[in-house]
Amino acid sequence: MQIVGYEPVPDPALLVADAGAVERVPLTAGTRLSYALGERHCAGVVQDDRHDACPNATAPYCSVHADRWHEGMIADREGEHAVYLAGFAPATFKVGVTRSGRVETRLREQGADRGAHILTVPDGAVAREVESDIGETVGERVRVATKRRGLHREVDDDAWATLVADHDVIASYRFDYGFALEEQPVPETLASGTIRGVQGRLLVVETAGTAYAVDLRDLVGYEVDPDGDPPARQSSLGAF
Ligand SMILES: [Zn+2]
Repeated sequence: MQIVGYEPVPDPALLVADAGAVERVPLTAGTRLSYALGERHCAGVVQDDRHDACPNATAPYCSVHADRWHEGMIADREGEHAVYLAGFAPATFKVGVTRSGRVETRLREQGADRGAHILTVPDGAVAREVESDIGETVGERVRVATKRRGLHREVDDDAWATLVADHDVIASYRFDYGFALEEQPVPETLASGTIRGVQGRLLVVETAGTAYAVDLRDLVGYEVDPDGDPPARQSSLGAF
């Protein structure tokens, strides 16, 4: 049994393959996950709900399967594109582009707390140019670790308002991922505990009163034992 992928919000899920069949395991707040992580290797290919395994050691994808992964992400440069600003608590901002009509989805996929659609352009190439112009001052990337460190914080309203004031806002967004944390979650790679929620690629699980933030991409490729049910950390420490 192997974790071979994940689906982002609004209906986050882990994709778990067992002997070629793929099961979608919803990451619903309040439910428990109890996978013990084993060895990690390439997640192979999922197509039409079937999984082709790959024994290559590189995870989440080996060079053969990484190409397929990137194909989907860079395709679709034609047609109208939108340029947007994204805000992550407390005050980390970026500019991004996506296909027109996909701004809200894209912001949610990234786990943004705020968003503003600021421009619509004829195609992806123009969008990239605008992105890189604005990116010189705003930035184009926010690391997952940076998002994680702000997960328990609120957005700095003044800083966001100042940024947005420099642009013509077509639509603005404010997201609530349905959970609030009292303190910064502990970074960890595990698939067990009570699910608090998912924000972008970050899954928050709680064990014994401690909240852990897991980058879902870091789970892809792990062989799992579905009945592992180990308390966070303890089993991995015991295993070594
Ligand atoms: Zn592979």
